[in-house]
Amino acid sequence: MALYDFLKDLFSAAQKTQNIELLQAILEAQRQAWELQAENAELKKRIEELQDMHALEERIMRNPVQAYVMLTGDEDNIVYCSVCYDSNRQLIQMKFIQHIGPRGELRAATYECHVCKNQVHTTCSKQADMLALKEFT
Ligand SMILES: [Zn+2]
Repeated sequence: MALYDFLKDLFSAAQKTQNIELLQAILEAQRQAWELQAENAELKKRIEELQDMHALEERIMRNPVQAYVMLTGDEDNIVYCSVCYDSNRQLIQMKFIQHIGPRGELRAATYECHVCKNQVHTTCSKQADMLALKEFT
């Protein structure tokens, strides 16, 4: 940090004067420079987090009827819990549960969040069909 190096050099030069008030003022300036550096690092980190959050938010596809989200560009079509996403911005993959009838036929399916137990019911048989879910609701 250029400012801190400058103050360090200034302190070394001021030591020759033996001016206590000047030395204390430089030490105080150094302390404040460290505080600013720490605050600056924290703000840079926060900006990165907000940029990441914004980039993620732009990829979110919401279903207007049921409580799940998917991501644009996700070739695996993973289904995430919108309750968890809306409450704490965590993408929790929902578990796919098939409901098989007595003759072994697929009757319906449910996606369930293992964190909040949110459930999305569908007659879709494959995870990829969730993209067209609103046609079935
Ligand atoms: Zn959840």
